[in-house]
Amino acid sequence: MTTDFIKALSCADDYDPNSMPVDKARKHIRDYLSPVSTKETLPLRSSLGRVLAEDIFSPVNVPNHDNSAMDGYAIASADIRPGETRLKIVGTAFAGRAFEGKVKPGECVRIMTGAVMPPECDTVVIQEHVQVEGDVMVFGDGVKPGQNMRFAGEDLKQGQVVFPVGHLVRPADLGLIASLGIGEVRVFRKLRVAFFSTGDELASIGQALEPGQVYDSNRYTIYGMLARLGVEILDMGVVRDDPKLLEQALKEAAASADVILTSGGVSVGEADFMKQLLNDLGQVVFWKIAMKPGRPLAYGKIDQAHYFGLPGNPVSVMVTFYQFVRDALLVLMGQPTPPALPLLNATCTDALKKAPGRTEFQRGVLLADQDGVWKVRPIGNQGSGVLRSMSEANCFIVLPDTNAGVAAGEMVQVQILEGLI
Ligand code: AMP
Ligand code: MG
Repeated sequence: MTTDFIKALSCADDYDPNSMPVDKARKHIRDYLSPVSTKETLPLRSSLGRVLAEDIFSPVNVPNHDNSAMDGYAIASADIRPGETRLKIVGTAFAGRAFEGKVKPGECVRIMTGAVMPPECDTVVIQEHVQVEGDVMVFGDGVKPGQNMRFAGEDLKQGQVVFPVGHLVRPADLGLIASLGIGEVRVFRKLRVAFFSTGDELASIGQALEPGQVYDSNRYTIYGMLARLGVEILDMGVVRDDPKLLEQALKEAAASADVILTSGGVSVGEADFMKQLLNDLGQVVFWKIAMKPGRPLAYGKIDQAHYFGLPGNPVSVMVTFYQFVRDALLVLMGQPTPPALPLLNATCTDALKKAPGRTEFQRGVLLADQDGVWKVRPIGNQGSGVLRSMSEANCFIVLPDTNAGVAAGEMVQVQILEGLI
């Protein structure tokens, strides 16, 4: 952190760690993120999901020739006559094999989709609109000059910036970059994210459960969410609620990762303990976010590493990850302004209880009714410990601070989870 994070925050007029709106917390975090800067060169396929470190320019026009958009006949529009036009067929242009001759007035060429347009021609008449009589092609009124052609550079012009620095490479982009003949790209290095679960009550898979113990599930959901983002993952397992062990784990994580995620230990009952520890190790603020689930959240820096202390409840972990960590990781990966998760409107099938003053992320199932209208059905048990609600859900029902409850049939906003979880 270049400036004193805690000092800077506490000077902000409206800073209140006990009632931090979701958007404000997101903004405060955004202000302190420092993206990776190391670049590497990768073969095109390996760049999927990575962030471009240099602009990609088009070295060529795409397409590189005027060509036909349809199967039909290439003609010169000057030959079009009112009523009926008759032209002599003098050859064929195939995709990848151009017509070599000259097309004189009164002549035309059979042409296939993607074939280079003979330079004398400027229009394609589709084959369904013509009649062929021997070596003569006939068509009636309605042909417009220039129709059914693709123009050189129509997709991309030579020298044009195709993708700017900071662009996240998706499947269509791989194809577009390939269409330019580019086989290697410069991307930012992978972000390294270390994480561990905290809690004396946690058992790992393979251990028998003692009374009062639960299996550490956060380790697996966090792994899954990080894997989807394509970061390098350092899974540090479970750390007991022991200041010495926690300190050791945090130091180790800070030495080897760009980002540290922990789950548990930031709720009111336990925060003092972590607060003390993090006070000595770095600059971390503890927020009570005006949201449900996911009220407690810690954020700051430990040495050079960004730190997110997520709540322990399995649903809260996922909600806070998607609302705060995901966006922050995308920025740290080199994307300057990651697009916000879209909010879509849907009719809520059931009434929802909601107190004003906090944002709620209830779990729902988005489904199309018989008429194809999108509706959202809330999941029954919205408890923040009920992870099954996340598995059953395919969206969050996002209820803003001001909302004071929803009647059945009312419109709500949803965030689709497909592709996220
Ligand atoms: P905490 O935030 O540490 O107070 O934890 C809140 C609740 O989440 C408690 O019921 C914990 O047992 C549970 N919890 C914390 N960490 C995990 C974990 N890694 N896996 C499953 N449940 C957890
Ligand atoms: Mg705990």
